[in-house]
Amino acid sequence: MGKRQRRRERQRSGGTGKQQRTPVVVRFPSLGTPLVRVEIDGDAPPDVRETCLAYWEFDEAGTWARPVSDIGSAKAVCRTVQAASTASLLTVVCPGCAGPVTVSTRSEMAASGYWRAGGLPATVTPGRAPCEDCRAAADTVRREEEALAEELRRQAERRRADNIVLWLDAHRDDPAPTETPSLQAALVLLSAAETMERTADGTFGPLSALSSPLTGSESGDADAIGELYRKGWIAPAPPVAAESLTYEDDDTVSGFYPDELTWRPAHALGENALDAREAAITRLTPHLLRDIADVRAHLADLDAGLLTAYLSGLLTRQYGEAPVPEHRLTDLHAAAREALDDGFSLGQLIAIAWSAASGAVSWGQRTPGLKPGSVSAAAVTNFGRGIGYAKDRPATEYDIPGWLPRPAVRATALSFLEQYGDGADPVGSVLSL
Ligand SMILES: [Zn+2]
Repeated sequence: MGKRQRRRERQRSGGTGKQQRTPVVVRFPSLGTPLVRVEIDGDAPPDVRETCLAYWEFDEAGTWARPVSDIGSAKAVCRTVQAASTASLLTVVCPGCAGPVTVSTRSEMAASGYWRAGGLPATVTPGRAPCEDCRAAADTVRREEEALAEELRRQAERRRADNIVLWLDAHRDDPAPTETPSLQAALVLLSAAETMERTADGTFGPLSALSSPLTGSESGDADAIGELYRKGWIAPAPPVAAESLTYEDDDTVSGFYPDELTWRPAHALGENALDAREAAITRLTPHLLRDIADVRAHLADLDAGLLTAYLSGLLTRQYGEAPVPEHRLTDLHAAAREALDDGFSLGQLIAIAWSAASGAVSWGQRTPGLKPGSVSAAAVTNFGRGIGYAKDRPATEYDIPGWLPRPAVRATALSFLEQYGDGADPVGSVLSL
């Protein structure tokens, strides 16, 4: 409650029951146009009244008639003045209610921004800031609005929590999957099945918590999960964080972030998630066996991708060179892929790429004035030549370095080929991980 309001209340109710004396009103400056009106409690004893008058007196805006120290101890004077008086700026009015702007101390007067020579306008002018009462009223409105918004938010949160449970439960009635997933999605599900066996609770995810994506890219993971869900192979499992889902205006579930949810095999494959896991593997295996050449091709693509990432990483990490230029990345990937089809192992290609990089870097050191990226482009050319030379002699194999993240689906494809492939498979059987 503002000071004026308090005073009005006091006047209305008659205060403590005693008859209130009319307040003493004094205007300053005493000569010329009055600019400030000082109102002193009518019940204040004469010494208090004297203190207030001495405190507020001035002849010209910006200069008080006397320093506070001439009146008494600063602390006591301020307390007395604040309790017994109020100063209103006569020519500055609240822009909200057009009431006078009031202050209760000299520091408040200074803070008003008008307390300087010529600072108080000669005619009535709207002030820069609303008065105490208007500010208090605005605060109340703001607090009420905030409380309402908070209550609405809480209600929405409760509705969403209920809807999440309904959404999860609805998946129990989904029909069994009939549509075969793409190879990539099938490998993701098999790879997830390995995780489910290890964690023994029949769930996997969220994929966003993995140190590196299952497929080698986050978007690849999200696509595969989205596809497995659409085709009915997997269902969301608790716990579900509310932020992992999107909602309609009525707070029913409208969508989800695939990599943020925990998943289980579809309920139709078995209510017990671990049984469902077995059923999913049993159903997927014949599809993959029928397309086993595609599994090999997919593995070769993954390995060509790894080789590309290896050579680029080696040049930037170890030699501080520019990355392989965009248009040469395609050449590099194609050369690696062709070599893998010709029977090279990834370990052999890594050895060739290592020599190609070191040769290109030495050439770069001997050749002044090269453009950035020249050494990396030369490494790609060297790699192609290196494959040609290696065809006629036994090639060494290097291990895949630890810094190169290997997509989990690669290990899944390798073990699938080891288990079901014909053993003479040139790509899958060479590297032991
Ligand atoms: Zn106001």
